[in-house]
Amino acid sequence: MGMPEWIVTGVSRRKINIEDPLGVRSQAKLQSNLDEVVCGDRVEVELVGEENVVTSLIPRTNLFLRKFRERTKYLAANLDCLFVVNAVEPLFNTVFIDRTLASCVSAGIPSVLIVNKRDLGLDHTRSSIDVYERLGIKVIYTCAKEQDGIDSLISILEEKALGVSALCGISGVGKSSIINRLVPSATQTVAEVSSRTGQGKQTTTMAIAHTRVGKNNQRQMIIDLPGLQNFGISHLSITELPNLFVEFAERSRDCKFLDCSHTEEPQCAIRAALKDGQIANSRYESYIGMREELIANRPY
Ligand code: GDP
Ligand code: ZN
Repeated sequence: MGMPEWIVTGVSRRKINIEDPLGVRSQAKLQSNLDEVVCGDRVEVELVGEENVVTSLIPRTNLFLRKFRERTKYLAANLDCLFVVNAVEPLFNTVFIDRTLASCVSAGIPSVLIVNKRDLGLDHTRSSIDVYERLGIKVIYTCAKEQDGIDSLISILEEKALGVSALCGISGVGKSSIINRLVPSATQTVAEVSSRTGQGKQTTTMAIAHTRVGKNNQRQMIIDLPGLQNFGISHLSITELPNLFVEFAERSRDCKFLDCSHTEEPQCAIRAALKDGQIANSRYESYIGMREELIANRPY
């Protein structure tokens, strides 16, 4: 019989927070020969003396990360779904959404868009949201302040039996409020962390996993990712980039050149579709911004 699998629920500089298959949490240290572990990682743990030691890492099904210049930041592993949290205008951020969605496509992680603060009105955000609905991306509308729409989020978690999911978003969109609705004990967990570190709120770059017990005692891990302001995408390759935009991928075979960059080549199907309004300006702008970041950071 193999070792029982534990799951990583948080990583600080010295300690790994882990949860056993029954949901009991404890702390461990990382065996020195192991590379970095991250929230959502499945690991094996052995008791060495009086101390729990993470002795091996079970191969990941996926890894969500960001990279700016040479700095890579692992965010979470083994995700069944990433919820990209936004709020209505002026907080609806297409640059952030497109970078996150492209990273999910690249890592093979399904994603869902959450539009929070619907109580403030959807009118000014409608056309931007439509872009994503037309791409076939699932959109959920919530008002975390009133618990409105949280049910649809819970049905996705439960119907799809999502074992490990994560929420990401720029700060201020209501990510913490949504997590507190999903996992009422989350506030307590955050409070525990702050009493140790002396911080008022989780302002660090640390991800924290909360456990939600759903219907039929189904256990779900929900990872609260730090409120990233910029989402560096230097980990993506410039050749794969167009294919990470679904509406580009399906049209690019009609470009004259097989390796068309969709910037200045003649007979480019992507720029033709942009001109016709079949591809949204905001999506094309995101593509160009990401492409420029990759060119600027290309190793020579
Ligand atoms: P986070 O930075 O993304 O974790 O956002 P918070 O959960 O801390 O919320 C930021 C602010 O938005 C707080 O003042 C919340 O009270 C407010 N807020 C959160 N959800 C909603 C909502 O659905 N509607 C409205 N009007 N305000 C909200
Ligand atoms: Zn092209």
